[in-house]
Amino acid sequence: MSEISNQHKTVLDKLTAASKRAGLPAAALVAVSKVQPDARIAEMLKTGQRIYGENRVQEAQTRWGGTFADHRDGLELRLIGPLQTNKAADAVALFDVIETVDREKLLKALVKAVGPDGKMPRLYVQVNTGEETQKSGVRPADVPAFLTLMRETYNLEPEGLMCIPPMGEAASPHFWLLSNLAKDNGVSKLSMGMSGDYEIAAEMGATSVRVGSALFGARKS
Ligand SMILES: *Cc1c(COP(=O)(O)O)cnc(C)c1O
Repeated sequence: MSEISNQHKTVLDKLTAASKRAGLPAAALVAVSKVQPDARIAEMLKTGQRIYGENRVQEAQTRWGGTFADHRDGLELRLIGPLQTNKAADAVALFDVIETVDREKLLKALVKAVGPDGKMPRLYVQVNTGEETQKSGVRPADVPAFLTLMRETYNLEPEGLMCIPPMGEAASPHFWLLSNLAKDNGVSKLSMGMSGDYEIAAEMGATSVRVGSALFGARKS
């Protein structure tokens, strides 16, 4: 077995065990392929891994609309990085899921970006659980109003909530907050947990975790 397939198996086994410990259905594994070399991605595709996360629209287009276009069928692509409104149409065309919805201007751009086929990706609202000034995401106190706006004014139903806890802080209080916001606002799914804390996230109710370096190895740059 290749190193990548070993790492994939290790992460999947730990993830499945963590969900099970909490008595929950297994969380989905999103393999974060940003910045990774093509050879590692080719190995990952061989494992049968089907869900991939990307930070940048253009990089994702090059990778999944170009280099690996032959593999695109049957894959689920998720945008997990910030989305500029001028890239909304490209994002709607390429991604199955957009996890970083965080402002009204973007809701407007997404609705406008829907093509003649009517396809709209499934949407997650990013919550800035640490209320960090440099981080995007809706502030926790503003989540109820933002969800109402999304549902009533834009007729968009969020599939879930997503968070990226502050670096160097324990993640579990942030996972707890996100989980409560979802419960209180009738949102069913939770995207939380990365390489360092995906098991904790799964135990706390993540329905998907976003794992990069633990699967692929460290990112260069
Ligand atoms: C890069 C990234 C990840 C993956 O990070 P790792 O620590 O390599 O697992 C997860 N989520 C987001 C939003 C990211 O940007």
